[in-house]
Amino acid sequence: MLLNQKYEIFPTEEQREMLDRWLQYCRQTYNSALLDKERKYKQSKEPYNRYDMQKQQTLDKKEYPFLKEIPSQPLQEVFVRLKKAFDHFFRKNAKYPKQKKYKEYTSMTFPQFGFNKKGNRMAMSFSDNGKLYNTKLGEIDILLHRPIEGAIKQLIIKRQGKRWYAIFCVERQVLPTILDTNLAVGIDVGLNKYAVLSNGLEYENPRFLRKKEKQLKKAQRRLSQKKKKSANYIKQVQRVRQLHEKVANQRKDFLHKLSYNLAKDYSVIVVENLNIRNMVRNRKLSKSISDAGWGMFRNMLAYKCENRGGTLIKAEPKFTSQDCSCCGNRVKKSLSIRTHICTKCGTLLDRDHNASLNILQKGLEELLATN
Ligand SMILES: [Zn+2]
Repeated sequence: MLLNQKYEIFPTEEQREMLDRWLQYCRQTYNSALLDKERKYKQSKEPYNRYDMQKQQTLDKKEYPFLKEIPSQPLQEVFVRLKKAFDHFFRKNAKYPKQKKYKEYTSMTFPQFGFNKKGNRMAMSFSDNGKLYNTKLGEIDILLHRPIEGAIKQLIIKRQGKRWYAIFCVERQVLPTILDTNLAVGIDVGLNKYAVLSNGLEYENPRFLRKKEKQLKKAQRRLSQKKKKSANYIKQVQRVRQLHEKVANQRKDFLHKLSYNLAKDYSVIVVENLNIRNMVRNRKLSKSISDAGWGMFRNMLAYKCENRGGTLIKAEPKFTSQDCSCCGNRVKKSLSIRTHICTKCGTLLDRDHNASLNILQKGLEELLATN
């Protein structure tokens, strides 16, 4: 299984300038290969593939020696990206590839990392003191906030706003699936509490996150009051963007920790199979749903479960909050009713707790049906 692990790096000003230049070369290469491809097609209807592009690149390097500053692998990888963009277009998954602007081209890929089989150092590797290393760049500080687990297959260097990141693509051995239904849990995700488990445990949205989100809302409101294109407006746009990034980072961090702990503690996890896209279309809920990152949470849970040999089951979400988890009696209630009270068997439960018990039940039924 291939996974990405992302770490912040701290290039010096000089290194930043060089990395920025390299991105520029990649982007120019992308754009000119796209132009060449279009020109070729117009002239002769002939394809213009990666190998043609690489041939052209060899010529370009003679003409423009500055292209030799950047290692050749990331520069060649640009053609893989262009091919992917066309593949997506032909499969009707994306629009026709277009010329990339500065802001749209933010990463470069080093398809090999460390040392090759012959023991030669690749363009990017770790130095002896654990920093990121390239002969032209020198050593770049990297914050390895968690260990890199698995064999590094490739490295992506990415610019995000003013920050830089190293994203390692690693290959990990997958443990065999172990099923232990005693360690099974149903999870109901919601807006009031982030997650409620069928064993009654609750996970709130962290306070710092709620605080930041409030700040963000306020900043957005202020922005709407400012005159467009004024100096203050531009300043406020910057502020909103920064807060936005902060909130997104903090949420991601929270979700990583939560999903990690759940995958560690339970062997079978059942969530609702919600079609996030459909839900987001519902305007009223949409803002909070896309913010809550439920799709991201589900993805994290999926690969973390798989990693640990656990199982994630996606259960049909119909009536999970209506039905009584004790006797199955359907108790209709609107979103504002927070407690489930069964008129038939007298069960009284928190609405989300009741839902999570139903989710678990459905998941286990599905599991028994398929095994
Ligand atoms: Zn009941």
